[in-house]
Amino acid sequence: YEAKFGGHGTRVFSPALNQATIDRRELEVEMASALENGGFELHYQPQCDADGRVAAVEALLRFTHPTLGVVPPSRLIPVAEESQMIVPLGNWVLREACRQNRQWQLEGHPPVRVAVNISAIQFARQDFAERVAEVLEETGLLPEFLELEMTESVVVKDFAESTRQMERLKRLGVSIAIDDFGTGYSSLNYLHRLPIDRLKIDRSFMQALNEPNSSLPILEAIINMAQNMGLGVVGEGIETTEQMSMLCLKGCDLFQGYLFSRPLSADRAITALQAGNLGAAKKIAAVAS
Ligand code: C2E
Ligand code: MG
Ligand code: MG
Ligand code: MG
Repeated sequence: YEAKFGGHGTRVFSPALNQATIDRRELEVEMASALENGGFELHYQPQCDADGRVAAVEALLRFTHPTLGVVPPSRLIPVAEESQMIVPLGNWVLREACRQNRQWQLEGHPPVRVAVNISAIQFARQDFAERVAEVLEETGLLPEFLELEMTESVVVKDFAESTRQMERLKRLGVSIAIDDFGTGYSSLNYLHRLPIDRLKIDRSFMQALNEPNSSLPILEAIINMAQNMGLGVVGEGIETTEQMSMLCLKGCDLFQGYLFSRPLSADRAITALQAGNLGAAKKIAAVAS
């Protein structure tokens, strides 16, 4: 199975690799058309405090392909990043999340923060903070109701420039969370220099709580460190009451996971906002204290 490429000689591809490339191209084309035709959707997953009150929702990208069915973000985002589509797509996510949150507020629902995932490629754009300012202006959302989630990978390339970018964002009044904390390069050397507000502990630590070598000491250390630095701390991927009570006991202040709620369509998220309190947490908090 051979293909010739622009006179640079013959390269050999396995049929499987070639198929993967075709699928990727196809997906890219479908995504580009979805971006133009309103084919993407956002779902919202609540973040609760220890009393079960909904403090925030995380916006998560959803895409249903006409024939492939639901395509998870773990496939969408790498394709979007490789093709640079992540920039317009990320802008759409940001605008839609802010628009939706403002609309909820105008409808009289209890106000919450919306957390938006930002790709390192988006963040690296010189004009990113300007885009954020524009979106806030256009949608009328106050900056205190927007949080930007980014992984440690955003600071890997150029620490000084990343810090400046974060400072520009902080000046707008939005908050910044480090997502999937503990899974990236995790150089503690940079953390105390960044103008961030919150750490989100990666869900792999929740899953490893019950392993023979439990992740508990690490979880505890992350929570203590966050507290000592004056940062908030969110536990993600909380699925069981045991995980919840353990985190609660150690002083984690926000909780996100299937135990409280799966990501919800915008319509269904209203129910969670109106309920204001996702029951499970309150009971568990009482047990833990
Ligand atoms: P993330 O930002 O860490 O988002 C949390 C992921 O964990 C979501 O997966 C969510 O559905 C899932 N999750 C939440 N609670 C639980 C739980 O209790 N158990 C388990 N097993 N999973 C849980 P999702 O929606 O598939 O998104 C995966 C990743 O894709 C996100 O991870 C984020 O890195 C990326 N992503 C999603 N939407 C966007 C977006 O709009 N822009 C960018 N740049 N990335 C996005
Ligand atoms: Mg996230
Ligand atoms: Mg995460
Ligand atoms: Mg994660």
